[in-house]
Amino acid sequence: MRIGLIDVDGHNFPNLALMKIAGWHKAQGDDVDWAIGFEHYDRIYMSKVFNFSPDDLTMYDADEIIKGGTGYDIASQLPDEIDRLQPDYSIYPHIPTDTAYGFLTRGCPNKCPWCVVPRKEGRIRPYMDCDEIAIEGRTKLVLMDNNILAAGDYAVSQLQKIIERGYRVDFNQALDARLVTDEFAQLLAKIRWIDRRIRFGCDTHGQIKECERAIALINSYGYRGEYFLYTMIGGKSDFKESFERVNYWWERNRECREQHKPNIYPYAQPYRNPDNPHEPIPEWQKDMARWVNKHQCFQMTDFANFSPRKGFKCKEYFK
Ligand code: SF4
Repeated sequence: MRIGLIDVDGHNFPNLALMKIAGWHKAQGDDVDWAIGFEHYDRIYMSKVFNFSPDDLTMYDADEIIKGGTGYDIASQLPDEIDRLQPDYSIYPHIPTDTAYGFLTRGCPNKCPWCVVPRKEGRIRPYMDCDEIAIEGRTKLVLMDNNILAAGDYAVSQLQKIIERGYRVDFNQALDARLVTDEFAQLLAKIRWIDRRIRFGCDTHGQIKECERAIALINSYGYRGEYFLYTMIGGKSDFKESFERVNYWWERNRECREQHKPNIYPYAQPYRNPDNPHEPIPEWQKDMARWVNKHQCFQMTDFANFSPRKGFKCKEYFK
């Protein structure tokens, strides 16, 4: 069979489902390639991760087109025999040969109203072992778990194994600061982090003190790297709450630089309504994200004096 793959909204971030599909078909002796127009395929797989990103409307020539991913259908899942496979890294030649992608767990016990994970994946459960992800000598693991620390003893055993093996990791979907116990803090301080960076979520005002508590606890066990905080703005948080939360981390960022301490960087993500992906994002959220996410702007000026476009300063939002 001739198989074509389409990574609709990948933007060069590897699509794990397509990598597994590629591996499965190659094991059946099929030819697998990125699909292009004007070529015939027996089957094309289109994968779309986000429901707000545009679809690929190219007319492809294929006997069958299978569409999957949360962007098309929140309930879509790979068949178990494919899901359990190792990804085929060869379809993304730009991925460094020392880097692997995967999940140790799936699901999340929480039900944050803005998040599709509980609906899509259900309760948290073990999924793969870190050794199953670190294939082909790949020792840098980008782990996309949604809430690894909620996995209790399984999380402890996996973090211990990551330390023993000397893997470098990045939990790129962030950790939940509320779940950082003394035991977890000791383990997190020992891990070799990719880019020396631990990520937390700080989506509500109440999470500020939880992030501060977790940061102080992990630092007390000798961690000297940076922190990266995902901060959702908008949604149930109005301008005032979003600004105050982000500005709290602006102050802390400045303090860390003045005291030559490892830094804390927020990363602002405007709210996306999971049930109405095309709901427009208000201008203040776009401007706040522009300010926060460009480190140079964030460090040079406060939000009021940030000028996202000619003739406009964000102090207008405070009137
Ligand atoms: S904790 Fe994270 S993964 Fe879990 S529901 Fe909330 S946002 Fe989603």
